[in-house]
Amino acid sequence: MIYFDNAASTPLLQEIIDEIHSLLPEMFGNPSSIHDFGRRARVVIEDARSIIAGLLHVAPSEIIFTSGGTEADNTVLWGAVRKLNVQHIVTTRTEHPAVLNPLSAIAKEHRTEIIYLSVDRNGQPDLTQLEDVLKKKTKPVLVTLMHANNETGVLLPLKNVSELCSSSGAYFHSDMVQTFGKCNIDFSKIPVGFASASAHKFHGPKGVGFLYRDSKNALEPYILGGGQERQMRAGTENTVFIAAMAKALQLAYNRMEENLQYITQLKNVMAGKLSAIKGVFFNGDSDKGGLHTILNVAFPHTAQTEMLLYKLDMNGVAVSGGSACASGTVHQSHVLNELYGVTDNINIRFSFSKLNTIEEVNKVAGIIYEILQHEEIEK
Ligand code: PLP
Repeated sequence: MIYFDNAASTPLLQEIIDEIHSLLPEMFGNPSSIHDFGRRARVVIEDARSIIAGLLHVAPSEIIFTSGGTEADNTVLWGAVRKLNVQHIVTTRTEHPAVLNPLSAIAKEHRTEIIYLSVDRNGQPDLTQLEDVLKKKTKPVLVTLMHANNETGVLLPLKNVSELCSSSGAYFHSDMVQTFGKCNIDFSKIPVGFASASAHKFHGPKGVGFLYRDSKNALEPYILGGGQERQMRAGTENTVFIAAMAKALQLAYNRMEENLQYITQLKNVMAGKLSAIKGVFFNGDSDKGGLHTILNVAFPHTAQTEMLLYKLDMNGVAVSGGSACASGTVHQSHVLNELYGVTDNINIRFSFSKLNTIEEVNKVAGIIYEILQHEEIEK
C-alpha cells in the first residue's frame, strides 16, 4: 500500500505512538482535580501548551486546546460575531467547509454580512478587492483566509494580508490546518489574530487541535460547560493526545527545512512524471509552487482515466479525488469549481509526507502509466 493522502490525514510517527503508550495508563486523572493524579495531568497539559507556544513565539495563555481544526474555526467565527461584534466577514468561496458552513449559518442567524473575495485561476484571493473592502467598512471586520488550500495547496501571501488587516484594524483569522508543522510559522514575525490547527495533519492523533488567539482579541467559548481552558473551551481536556500533539509539532519544527526539501523533491518528481501524460495539467499551478505537500492533477476525461481514483485504490495507492468529505463520498470539488467552473476533468490530489519515498513516487507514476495504457504518454 502506498499512502499519498497526507492532506487528508497523516500516519502517527513511532515516537508519537510511544508517547501515547507511555502516558495513556498513567494520565487518567482529571486535569482539573486538585489531587496528585489531577495535578500530574495538569502539568502534562501545561507543558504541552508551553512547547507549542514556544514554537510559535506566542504566550502559552494564547493557545486554546480544541478537538481539532473544525472546532477551532467555529470558535473564532462564532466568537467574532458574538463577542467582537463583527458585522462583516471577508473570505473566499474556496475555504474549507469548516469555515464556509459556519459562515452560512452565521449569515442566517445574525445580520453579519459575508463578503466573498474573487479568486484568480490559481486560487489567489484578490487583495486589491480586500484592501478596498477594508477601506470602506466602518464597523468591525473579520478577515478569514486559509494559509494553504487543502485541495490545491495554493498559499496565501500571509504577510500582505496580515499587514492589510492590521493597518485597517480588521481582525485576521487564518485556517492554518494544512501548514502547521510544514511551514515555519512564527507569529512574532507575521502577526495573525487567530489561527486554527489540527494535530492529525502533522503526524499527531485525530480529534485534537488548537486555536491560537492573540491575547488582544477577546473571545468567548464556543462550547459551554465547565471552565476549562481558562474559561475558553469547556470539556475535560484530552491530556494524552494534547501531549502527543505538542511532541508531533516539536518534531516537525526540529526538521522543518530538511522535510521541506525532501517532500518538495517528491512532489517535483511526481509532477515531472505526470506532465508527460497528454492533456494533464496541474490545478492551481500546484506543480510550480504552493504548499510542498500537495500536487493536484487534472487528467483529461477518457475511458482510462474514468474511475482513476478507484483504479489506484485497487492497485494499493491511496489518493484523494475532488475532495473527500466526511461521508466518504467524492463529489465535484467546490474549490476547483470556483477556479475553473464545472469541467469533466478527473482531478486527483496527491499529498506527500516525510514518510513517503522516491521509490513510491516512481511506482505510482508507473501504475498510472499502466492504467492509462502507454499510448497516452507522449514521451
Ligand atoms: N481546515 C482545513 C484546511 C482542513 O484541511 C481540515 C481537515 O481536512 C480542517 C479544517 C478540519 O480539521 P479537523 O479534521 O481537525 O476538524
